[in-house]
Amino acid sequence: MKILKKALFIDRDGTIIVEPPTDFQVDSLEKLEFIPKAITALHKIAHELDYELIMVTNQDGLGTNSFPEESFWIPHNKMIKTLENEGIHFQAVHIDRTFEYENAPTRKPRTGMLVSYMQGDYDLANSFVIGDRLTDVQLAKNLGANAIRFHTEATPDAVLVTNDWDEIYRFLKSYRRTAKVHRKTFETDVTVILCLDGNGRYHSRSGIGFFDHMLEQLAKHARIDLEIRVKGDLHIDEHHSIEDTALALGEAFSRALGDKRGIARYGFFQLPMDEALASVALDFSGRPYLVWKANFRREKIGNFPTEMFEHFFKSFSDAARCNLHIDCYGTNEHHQIEAIFKAFAKAIRMAIQKEHDQIPSTKGSL
Ligand SMILES: [Mg+2]
Repeated sequence: MKILKKALFIDRDGTIIVEPPTDFQVDSLEKLEFIPKAITALHKIAHELDYELIMVTNQDGLGTNSFPEESFWIPHNKMIKTLENEGIHFQAVHIDRTFEYENAPTRKPRTGMLVSYMQGDYDLANSFVIGDRLTDVQLAKNLGANAIRFHTEATPDAVLVTNDWDEIYRFLKSYRRTAKVHRKTFETDVTVILCLDGNGRYHSRSGIGFFDHMLEQLAKHARIDLEIRVKGDLHIDEHHSIEDTALALGEAFSRALGDKRGIARYGFFQLPMDEALASVALDFSGRPYLVWKANFRREKIGNFPTEMFEHFFKSFSDAARCNLHIDCYGTNEHHQIEAIFKAFAKAIRMAIQKEHDQIPSTKGSL
């Protein structure tokens, strides 16, 4: 399964470097001046957060007599070099050279230069455009991304309006890790909306009451926000609805965790419920593996077939690509499965905590 990339589409003039107030052209080294704190903030963003940096800029008439090539590239290359020296690497620099009156499909706010980011490899809903103009805000809309306006003027469509790069860094650092997964087959239609940095908000309509009750435990005790909508073939049985929800949920975790930078990675918890005791240990290792040591004698708890408990966790482990060990003893089977789901939630809570700024593996990726 593919991990979607997140991007910051960053404007140049008026956002990273000062836009000259008279002719709006940075066409000499004398005119090159960085916006205060831009380099420091971009350095921290590049090192601590998992966004690709992509520069998107309109340079009216570049290459014409009004803006000769050389007078653009000398200060531009100096700017790029200065950023590179601070470890700030732009994956791509997209420059549109047209004038506004030409209405070119490549000119911001249009997306002609950015179609390669719109083919499904990028998580645009969790990506941002950062720029000083309303056309940058509109570009974000056209991409399906969020807008951060580098300005002081109230801008309703922007998620943040500020002319302080420090604030942009702090905002991105605390931005919530989210994912939306829609999984549709002939058997089910499942939507999962997950926020890892939530506070236990929960809404689930799986059509299986006991399953909803368990998913509520997961949201509550992992302190994640979870919305699950399932339209399943319950007229046949519960199998597909439970399996496909687990797969969509696992995929949502994988997407929301992204490259897993900064997370604790491991989580483990032992949780009692009267006579039952459940132990769950998990590792968001990138490798699926389930070890299941729990026995159920009843055929169903509520309308949830007990044979599907193991299958739920196996499917979750496959899609989230995590290693999951579950062990439980007890006599009351309702207690046992509830203890398992709660311990699972607590282990997840521990594993997804952000506690540093590194990829938690000596391999350098997970
Ligand atoms: Mg600008």
